[in-house]
Amino acid sequence: MDTRQPSPARIADLANALANAEKRYRARHPNSASRHAYAAAHMPGGNTRTVLHYSPFPLTWAGGKGNRLTDVDGLEYLDLLGEYSAGLYGHSDPIVHAAVRAALDAGLALGGPNLYEARLAEAIRARFASMDLVRFTNSGTEANLLALSTARALRPGRPRVMAFDGAYHGGVFQFRHGGSQLNVPFDWLIGEYNEIEATRALLRAHARTLGAVIVEPMLGGRCIAGTAEFLTMLRAECSAHDIILVFDEVMTSRLGPAGVQGLLGIAPDLTTLGKYLGGGAPFGAFGGRRVIMERFDPARPDSLNHAGTFNNNVLSMAAGLAGLTQVFTPAAANRINALGDRLRDRLNHMAHARAARFEATGRGSLVGLRFGNGPADRAQSRASGDESDAQRQLEALFHLDMLERGYYFGRRGYVALSLPTTEADCDGFSDAVDDFLWTHRTLIDSIR
Ligand code: PMP
Repeated sequence: MDTRQPSPARIADLANALANAEKRYRARHPNSASRHAYAAAHMPGGNTRTVLHYSPFPLTWAGGKGNRLTDVDGLEYLDLLGEYSAGLYGHSDPIVHAAVRAALDAGLALGGPNLYEARLAEAIRARFASMDLVRFTNSGTEANLLALSTARALRPGRPRVMAFDGAYHGGVFQFRHGGSQLNVPFDWLIGEYNEIEATRALLRAHARTLGAVIVEPMLGGRCIAGTAEFLTMLRAECSAHDIILVFDEVMTSRLGPAGVQGLLGIAPDLTTLGKYLGGGAPFGAFGGRRVIMERFDPARPDSLNHAGTFNNNVLSMAAGLAGLTQVFTPAAANRINALGDRLRDRLNHMAHARAARFEATGRGSLVGLRFGNGPADRAQSRASGDESDAQRQLEALFHLDMLERGYYFGRRGYVALSLPTTEADCDGFSDAVDDFLWTHRTLIDSIR
């Protein structure tokens, strides 16, 4: 293992570069600074969604069009965050907007089945072959809570749930950095992502008490793709031991016309969905094998009761239906994911050509950008997001530098391409990253 540490002089250089970048950022964004101060009087840290916080303060958005965002200081950005993958349609898709307007005109909060929900369920089933029946929720977190609670109800005496180090399944299902105090108190068994033999052994050792395994086909946090072998092994072991396998495709369902399960030809027992499938409005769904899902039929004597005032709210149902059936067609899915593959390849070629300690990870239209030890690094520490302070500072410098150049993405190096994104957008971004790698080559090289 390489144990070289950055020298004190390099650490000081990095701190100085970051301090200067922050100074310029503050000077360019007085209105965002004052919005942040205002928000902080009313919400802890001015924040109601932790992932949107970054230092010294986040930009406040005045609006967006297509794949461009404008901040409250009047500056424009290429939106490469894509609302952490939920903003697949961009900010102003005419078909989605027309559907929302039509739903709005017909009336909100109807308090009964409406004209949309069954059609959206049908459209989802048509795409995701493993989903025999579907139910809606208001978020991906809720979808996972329902899927796992269902598994526990159907596997009495087997309360354990296996999840993976580095995974994220919602605000109360966080398995990065050793978990979260806010996690739902299920009896968790934590496996190592992409580690086939160790996971198989753990699973077999606990098979008698294990009711469910939940896995993201790609760890969304750092965009670490699950290998086909790993996911296939999970399918085989869960089948052999009658464990309910849940694919959390809240983020990854957009990576192909039928999600990653479609790309790999693996059918989980339950799938959870969310994000873009609400067309930009709040959304979650869970579904899967008929024998499991039909327990939610209210006419059954042994019916499981699943509530949720807004489960079928007309805005999410209408926007989701229009988006999935008219905009995010299989052809559109293939185009945006091929664009993401080309972007990732180009960034990796560039980094290689510069011998820069930089790597683009992920799959299709979801791209992770990271500084550090490269592909030889252990999958596990990359999954967990174990990073040094210097690495975090470099990430912050990169993020602020790219914002100054007009590119917005997640501080942790998270990019989700939205459908309006063009080849030219990706070229411009690649050139900007290349320039950063060249300008800061000495600093980057010194950071582990
Ligand atoms: N699962 C995954 C894989 C996610 O990426 C997310 C959201 N980032 C969730 C679940 C939770 O979804 P939501 O934010 O809608 O609750």
